[in-house]
Parts: sequence; structure tokens; C-alpha cells
Amino acid sequence: MAEPLKIDSHIHIYQTAEEGIGAKEGYEIWEYGAQEEVALSRLAGTVDEVLAAMEEADIAKAVAVNLFIADEQRKKYAEALPPDQAEAVRAGAHAEVEARLRDDCVAFNRWACQVARDHPTIVPFVSADANLFPGEEGAAQVRDLAENAGARGVKLHGPAQGFSMGDERLWPTYAVCQELGLPVVGHSGPDQEGKGLAEPRAFGAVLAAFPKLSIVLAHMGGATWQQVKEIADSYPNAFFDCCEIIEWTHSDNGPSDEALAQLIRDIGTERVMMGSDYPWYDLDHTVERVMELPLLSPEEKAGILGANAERILGL
Ligand SMILES: [Zn+2]
Repeated sequence: MAEPLKIDSHIHIYQTAEEGIGAKEGYEIWEYGAQEEVALSRLAGTVDEVLAAMEEADIAKAVAVNLFIADEQRKKYAEALPPDQAEAVRAGAHAEVEARLRDDCVAFNRWACQVARDHPTIVPFVSADANLFPGEEGAAQVRDLAENAGARGVKLHGPAQGFSMGDERLWPTYAVCQELGLPVVGHSGPDQEGKGLAEPRAFGAVLAAFPKLSIVLAHMGGATWQQVKEIADSYPNAFFDCCEIIEWTHSDNGPSDEALAQLIRDIGTERVMMGSDYPWYDLDHTVERVMELPLLSPEEKAGILGANAERILGL
């Protein structure tokens, strides 16, 4: 068999190494519980690093799912202010800071689109946010970024950004994505408060309401992976990437390698894409992990490595 096309369907990029390291330090991976030997990446999340890693792992394209976490930025702004103002900032009640956060999010998305124009092997998905840009504002943002800056899809992270995937303030954004053929990648997994913001079941309402919108449940449900089969069976427009969960097999709350491969089988191998979640994990290691999975044929693995992403994400 010829070398299969390889596409990394889920990476994050940052403008500086400091920013990338800060994002990694601020993001606790708690949901899987204990696992002794997780192979975390040492990389910082810069564009140059990922381009080199792509070359080394023979990866033709990587999808940058830009994630803007307003709350992290809010904390940084609060630290620089006197206590009385800092409290208002932390509560999201400081109008000037809230306006600055909206500008920061737009600038971060525009930067990612510019990176993709400079490096055509990077595919830009932009960060949307039900709190920063509710309703029609969010839809207008996404339309502008798609039509004028080259955005190819949207990224959402309910637990980190503080909303449910079924939040109706996202409906106009979903409608624009469906109209323009932009896939949505949503972090899937539990949240620390147990609200179910991004558990697979929280995707049901939007999958039903927008049947022509392709929605990717990133991490195949993470520690709530047992809900994935039900969603896959109910909604043909649900797709999956296996980043992170594939590095946390045999942890307290993750599946075994066998159970993960069986789940991929059960939902349809053609609906699952490889992703590294760089800079959290390494691209070449992710390829190795896919190749190590039991139960799947070489052809099925080839699809997961790249051809599925090409088809599902329209690359
Ligand atoms: Zn991610």
C-alpha cells in the first residue's frame, strides 16, 4: 500500500512560545483520572515548530482549531488592575475590558487566518464564543472571517468558554456555518461542575436542528466516551476526532485500546479523524498511536490518518 495521505485534524497554534506555554499551563487535563505514562509534548505551540513537526511526520495539512479562552485573558487583565476594578473584571462586568476581549478574539482569529495564507498547509478554523459574541453578532463574525479572511470552519469549547453546545445564542452561528458549508469542531467531554456543557448528549439538539451542518465531536467524548455511540447512531452529521483520548487509553476514565478501536468500528471508521491536539501531544506520536490500534484494517487506519478529514472537512 502506498503511503497514505496524512492530515492532522486538530492542532492549536500560538503567536509566541510564551503564549503557547501559558495556554498549556492554564489548561488542566483532569477528566481521565490517573494514567502513569501519558506522552505529553514538550513543544510550545508556535507555527515554526508545527511546520517542522508536520514535515517530520509527513503530514500534508493541519487544521488549526483556534481556541480563545476569554476567562484566561480576563484573569491576566485583572492581575494588572487595583483590587476594586479587578473584581469587576473577573465577574465580566468591566465594560472596557469586555470590549478589549472581543477585540482580542477577533485579532487572534485574524492572525490564524493570516498564518494560513502564509502557510497553505495550515487550515484555519476560528474561535466562536456564545458569551463574547451572542446571537447574530457571532454569526456576523464568522461570516466575515469566512468570506474575507479565509476561515474554513469554527471551533467551540463549551467548558473552557462557559456555555453549552446546545446554547441557543449559538444558533445563528450554526446557521451561517450550515449555509457556508463550514464544519464546526466542538470540544467534547465532561466539565468540572458536572453541567454536561459538552458531553456528547449536549450536541444532540444542534445536530438535530442543523442536519446539513457537519459537527465534529473532538476527543470522541473524552471521559464521557460511552455516550458517543448513541449520538453517532442518531445523527449522521456527527463526526469525531480521536485526539487526546488516544493518548489517555487505559487511564481511570478512558477506554482501553481495544474499547477505543471497537468504538471507532461501531460508529464507522469513516467518521473518525486523526488529530494530535498539538502542542499538548506530538504529531508523530499520534500517527504511531493510530497505527497501534487493534481491530482496524490498514485501509481503515489509512482513512483515519487523512482521507476521512479531507472528505469530512472539505479540505
Ligand atoms: Zn484541542
